[in-house]
Amino acid sequence: MNGNFSSVQEDPNVLAERMSRIEPSGIRRIFELMTTMDDPINLSIGQPHFDPPEALIEAACRAIRAGKNRYTVTQGLPALNQRLLFDVARRFGRRPDSCLITAGVSGGLVLSFLALLDPGDEILLPDPGFMMYRNLAAVVGAVPRFYSTYPRTPGGRFQIDALEIEAKITDRTRVLFLNSPSNPTGAVLSLDEIKVACEIANRRGLVVISDEIYDSFVYDSEFHSPVSHAEQCVQLGGFSKTYGVPGWRMGYATGPQKILDAMKTLQQFSFVCAPAPFQHALLEAAFDVDMGPHIVDYQRRRDLITAQLHPRYALRPPEGSFYAFPQLPKGQKGADFLQHAIDKNLLIVPGNAFSARDTHFRLSFAADDATLARGITALNQLAIELP
Ligand code: PMP
Repeated sequence: MNGNFSSVQEDPNVLAERMSRIEPSGIRRIFELMTTMDDPINLSIGQPHFDPPEALIEAACRAIRAGKNRYTVTQGLPALNQRLLFDVARRFGRRPDSCLITAGVSGGLVLSFLALLDPGDEILLPDPGFMMYRNLAAVVGAVPRFYSTYPRTPGGRFQIDALEIEAKITDRTRVLFLNSPSNPTGAVLSLDEIKVACEIANRRGLVVISDEIYDSFVYDSEFHSPVSHAEQCVQLGGFSKTYGVPGWRMGYATGPQKILDAMKTLQQFSFVCAPAPFQHALLEAAFDVDMGPHIVDYQRRRDLITAQLHPRYALRPPEGSFYAFPQLPKGQKGADFLQHAIDKNLLIVPGNAFSARDTHFRLSFAADDATLARGITALNQLAIELP
């Protein structure tokens, strides 16, 4: 040892090969950009702008003071598991075998991908889709096959195409991934779409992983889940968005015993358990709070941005989540449009952060009224000014 550590840092082989398959999130880069801007109009945010309900905050403080600071069992508090299974059965008419409390839906994604996908296995992912899916697939060595949800006709809704999904299935396909309401499009899968997708998965022996983190943000229709239609469904549910607690890192997974047992074993050797005080707080307080007024408020924001950006932008009202995914103005590339937006102090996320296509951009309406109004003004000015 000569005490010179710089040679170690510069060793090109220091990182595992899998790290060459992923790169830092484009959204993180936008976060970094924001820190250099003065009072930015930030419509790039992926979390609710409201504070958690007072009852939840109180319950969390009580849990910490009452000494609920040790590990829980890996599976999570049995009463919380039971309560979630009861709710899933009540909502969708089918009680999954098992429930695991996870460190956010992110934790559930990591565990389910590790449990279900070997190197070379294929996973069907929505395009556009949340970037964590394809990056996690890359980490475990799986091959993502993208099925398009882009509108088939100008002005149409984002939707799935059963024929395309069926055509992309090979001998190596293991998982059909669904995300409704969608990040980034805001589309909500109809009952028909879910039935058709699950019928394919059942017939071809695929596991459905269903990311339902935005399930309470649904505006025009009822929320439907593959839980009651797929023979093998890993349902990933969350608390981050519903209750405004993304920093608590709380989520849950439900599904078939064998898969959930495997995810639990993996959790033993990784996350250990989800944060204990927040498990207690959610069990005590979450199921009695009414988040309805926030959802009504988000629907109002949805209506506002849709009405005020139309007709300058091609945009259908998003059916759920708190994102809109309008088309880029004609001839614009996402990166250039982002730069023009930044020149107006506005942050949005180019659609190619979620897709191989560079035709849309994501706008979050999880922002206060004043910020939304400034954002809408800036976007409409851009639409007029751009060539
Ligand atoms: N899935 C989707 C579609 C998301 O948008 C997010 C957060 N942006 C997550 C999962 C992860 O959420 P969390 O880990 O906070 O539960």
